Amino acid sequence: MTRRRRIYEGKAKVLFEGPEPGTLVQYFKDDATAFNNQKKGIITGKGVLNNRISEYLMSRLSEIGVPTHFVRRLNMREQLVREVEIIPIELVVRNTAAGSLSKRFGIPEGTPLPRSIIEYYYKSDELNNPMVTEEHITAFGWAAPQDLDDMVALSLRVNDYLSGLFLGIGLRLVDFKLEFGRLWENEEMRIVLADEISPDNCRLWDIKTNEKLDKDRFRQDLGKVEEAYQEVARRLGILPEGGPVDVKGPKTVQ
Ligand code: UDP
Repeated sequence: MTRRRRIYEGKAKVLFEGPEPGTLVQYFKDDATAFNNQKKGIITGKGVLNNRISEYLMSRLSEIGVPTHFVRRLNMREQLVREVEIIPIELVVRNTAAGSLSKRFGIPEGTPLPRSIIEYYYKSDELNNPMVTEEHITAFGWAAPQDLDDMVALSLRVNDYLSGLFLGIGLRLVDFKLEFGRLWENEEMRIVLADEISPDNCRLWDIKTNEKLDKDRFRQDLGKVEEAYQEVARRLGILPEGGPVDVKGPKTVQ
């Protein structure tokens, strides 16, 4: 029995060496952070739910031809993913005003946007993830113009598809954050969707009541945080039998 080698530990996930070259194991923690790490907490069962929710959404996206790093879920808290070179840009797609956009421009939360808006943030905790433009991204070599075109085209497809999917279960996809990576296959490079898609990085509001069913419940101390994540999973039809039963930690492999 050998322990998996830890490659990277982030705020909500840990990456371990995968069983085959070119793969990684993505382990989902219950840890929650907000406001660039100034607020920290535990959302019990979040990792189990986000593992399921992200598996479900990445699988549906893959079926419509959006390339992703997701391979398969391994257990309650782990999924096998392809190893990619992460592009250090967080791409945010917004349909309705909320969060930092509302604050920056003084637009009340919940105002529908005239069209979907894409924003880019440079992934750097030290710099507090500054907002950047295409000029910064290409001039500093974080992504090539063609990479960026691919990321934008994929993000718009993801937005259209997920907006419809969530609308079908009575949820408004207000905004969300995506990350992309470069996947190398025999000298060829493809841009693929990476990271996770879950209530940690989407704003999801009930269509009728505008109730928030996402990480804003934690950010804004609204209570019923676990219940919100469970409700999203329940509406997607993927709530684990008997609720989010836990596994204790990263398991060992042969
Ligand atoms: N988001 C994220 N990680 C970040 C910043 C934002 O996943 O580091 C997501 C967030 O959950 C929301 C969207 O991106 O769905 C837009 O976030 P916003 O810029 O409004 O920032 P926030 O209000 O979350 O600080």
